Amino acid sequence: MSTLDDLPIRHDLRGQKPYGAPQLSVPVSLNVNENTFGIPEPVALAIVEKLAKATIGLNRYPDREFIQLREQLASFLGHSLEAKQVWAANGSNEILQQLFSAFGGPGRKALSFGPTYSMYPNIARTTLTEYVEKPRAVDFSLTPELVEEAISLEKPSLVIICAPNNPTGTAVSLEVIERAYSATNGMLIVDEAYAEFSHGPSALSLLPNRPRLVISRTMSKAFAFAGARLGYLAADQAVVDALRIVRLPYHLSALTQAAASAALEHADLLLQNVEKIKQQRDRIIEATSQWGLTPYASDANFVLVAGFENPEQVFEKLLQAGVLVRNVGIPNTLRITAGTESETTKLLAELALVLD
Ligand code: PMP
Repeated sequence: MSTLDDLPIRHDLRGQKPYGAPQLSVPVSLNVNENTFGIPEPVALAIVEKLAKATIGLNRYPDREFIQLREQLASFLGHSLEAKQVWAANGSNEILQQLFSAFGGPGRKALSFGPTYSMYPNIARTTLTEYVEKPRAVDFSLTPELVEEAISLEKPSLVIICAPNNPTGTAVSLEVIERAYSATNGMLIVDEAYAEFSHGPSALSLLPNRPRLVISRTMSKAFAFAGARLGYLAADQAVVDALRIVRLPYHLSALTQAAASAALEHADLLLQNVEKIKQQRDRIIEATSQWGLTPYASDANFVLVAGFENPEQVFEKLLQAGVLVRNVGIPNTLRITAGTESETTKLLAELALVLD
């Protein structure tokens, strides 16, 4: 059997590892920041109905411009956005890859602020974009000065700010976004994958007159739609025109378009658990801080908890008890997704046992 090393693979991909959050079958899975509530039955039925209609037409390529879905996404986002300012892809990972393909590439640099989402360097690598990660402050916050200084030093073609930040949960103020935009001549991507869980305002309000600003969103988190793969963005119409050049033709299947369209028609129902998830997030913060651990403030659907002497061991013991969390490699920490009330109860009970 040959191995990857036997293949004439690109030199820069030799020895690299694929994205690999464990996918294990456990009773309580809190490791990839999914929404752990299932799709409500009325929504599931509405999706199946639309899928059935779309299935009959699967002999034809789908609408390459997915106009109807973009209209729905624009109206969901509000802020007077129009369909021509909205774009979608198979998850926001693909949105980011299209952005890097169009605005990054050989001889160009992307800048972000770490610790942050682990796919940014992977997408940069795939698109042959240089990637620089500047450290956040010790509490993982960003200040306008920190961001401005990094931009003026690195002169990136692309700045990507995760707001709220994964894996730390840290909120980002609109002032930071505004100042980052003014400091760069390149594109500024604000990754708002977790925006619906945040108490702060979205950077969508900053879009008017900022043609280099892009707000990336996903239906994978608040919408409980990770399995359907639907990410989207709002930006100037010219940004959408740029992405049309790099996207693969018909990248969004007719089934994806139908499922997402039906889901958006029931956005209220799908988003109804956001408040419950926030309560569980705050419960994790409260309990772990009472036990002498140090949870970071979170504006997302997960909590980064510091203070573990041996996070690897805690991870393993939780796993043995049927609870999967995430070790993102930040020393002495574990990242825990906020699930349902009963999942949080199980997590906290098992964690208390481990800490004893
Ligand atoms: N951005 C951030 C910050 C994320 O945490 C994730 C998923 N973990 C994504 C983007 C990508 O999500 P998806 O491709 O499912 O939209």
